[in-house]
Amino acid sequence: MEGLQNALNDRGLTVTILPEKGRSLFTTRNFHPGEEIISQEPYVCVPNNSTVESRCDRCFASINLKKCSACKVSWYCSSTCQKSEWKLHRLECDALARLDKDRHKSVTPSIRLIIKLFIRRKLQSEKVIPTTATDNYKLVEALIDHMSGIDEKQLVLYAQMGTLVNLILQWPEMNVKEIARHFSKLACNAHTICDSELRPLGTGLYPVISIINHSCLPNAVLVFEGRSAVVRAVQHIPAGAEVSISYIETAGSTMTRQKALKENYLFTCTCSQCVKDQEDEIKESAILEGYRCKNDQCDGFLLRNSDDTGFTCQQCGLVRNKEEIQNIASQIKSISDEASTSMFHQNCGEALFMYEKLEELQKILCHPYSISLMQTREKLLKISMELENWTKALLYCKLTISVYQIREMTRFNVSSWALVTQPFYEYELGKLARICWMKGKHGELYSGIHPLLGLQFYTCGKLEWLLGYTEDAVKSYTKAFDILRITHGTNSSFMKDLLLKLEEARAEASYKHSSMEDE
Ligand SMILES: [Zn+2]
Ligand SMILES: [Zn+2]
Ligand SMILES: [Zn+2]
Ligand SMILES: [Zn+2]
Repeated sequence: MEGLQNALNDRGLTVTILPEKGRSLFTTRNFHPGEEIISQEPYVCVPNNSTVESRCDRCFASINLKKCSACKVSWYCSSTCQKSEWKLHRLECDALARLDKDRHKSVTPSIRLIIKLFIRRKLQSEKVIPTTATDNYKLVEALIDHMSGIDEKQLVLYAQMGTLVNLILQWPEMNVKEIARHFSKLACNAHTICDSELRPLGTGLYPVISIINHSCLPNAVLVFEGRSAVVRAVQHIPAGAEVSISYIETAGSTMTRQKALKENYLFTCTCSQCVKDQEDEIKESAILEGYRCKNDQCDGFLLRNSDDTGFTCQQCGLVRNKEEIQNIASQIKSISDEASTSMFHQNCGEALFMYEKLEELQKILCHPYSISLMQTREKLLKISMELENWTKALLYCKLTISVYQIREMTRFNVSSWALVTQPFYEYELGKLARICWMKGKHGELYSGIHPLLGLQFYTCGKLEWLLGYTEDAVKSYTKAFDILRITHGTNSSFMKDLLLKLEEARAEASYKHSSMEDE
């Protein structure tokens, strides 16, 4: 590990062992918001190829693809990409080419990832592929595997997958138990590789990035540039602080987040966001996952009555009875099933109709900041874009932005719910943007730097531009840029494209302005 420590020291970082978390990444100097903390190429990675979509094994591009003629499993966009992967693919290619045709279907991305991992380990130990301080199997070996924590069913599955890997590789020195341990290791440590708009493209193992622990209130963010993983500070990080990123979607209530972390990463989070008093926790889940007040002018949250006959608004005291709630909830359940069926069959027209019906019902049942209402609106945004109904898409985009902002702000300070628990949510973006600049629990000024919020502003800007609302587009693109330059840096082609769009919108706005003055 000495080599790794030296490499990290040069970057102003160090690995410290914490009794409750194990290896953790700490800073030894200040990092400013938007600054790159660390980046890493994957030890191994594989695109999420399926029968409907394929990507280049090297760069994840999806155009000009050609299948490897020998194994007929991997795809490449160019001979450059094929050549640079060849050392690694050669052994995999031989193994896959030996395999029966009808077994090709079972070679899933996770099977390929583990095969590539063993091949890379072998090639590095034979010095066919060079090793460096941040690129060697010892770093993979040091990753936690949580083998003792996984259940019987999962173990059986890993053993079956291990048998298949053995059948493909045919290396006598490998045993199923060792392969299973590596599957478990990948399950806790591999990262989903996403494009700039956070759409998943594949999976990769980044052993140095994996040292970074989770927080539900992280000070850094992980994004991908092609296949390299880049961690950037989203706030000022002083020297001597732990670097943290979020492993999960942080929108859920504490209970939901804890469940997701336990199930997927086998640990209990003790970040400041998770360790709050019970009263705040109850309030939080009542808002994010609970019901709305009977009075539609009131945004209070509801708690279950002690006699279990209904739920009482904590703001105005109105009671909603249990039967009424159960009745709407069961309607929501059946419509939501129908909606996902039409989505599954890619029947966008019908899906739009069903999700709008669902939204109407959820508006009656759920708290205005509820996660399920938010998810429905995100779907409605996606479907409206698919149907090129820009007006409708813009409406849903703005609705989700408002809730994103509220959530980002209140994640820092639950008591500030009171501040925003007022009828706000019909498009008061300007006002919301202002309240987002407020002091968080620890006194730091927080500006709602979350890549999802930036991307939503980006979509909003694109829609406003399409609809000819040039000045609004300038405002939205500017907000998108302000957030995304922190999370995504400014060098990627995505960010260059965003800047071009912003400049184009600005030029058009000033042209419109001057021609109005001429009249
Ligand atoms: Zn490529
Ligand atoms: Zn091949
Ligand atoms: Zn937490
Ligand atoms: Zn009320």
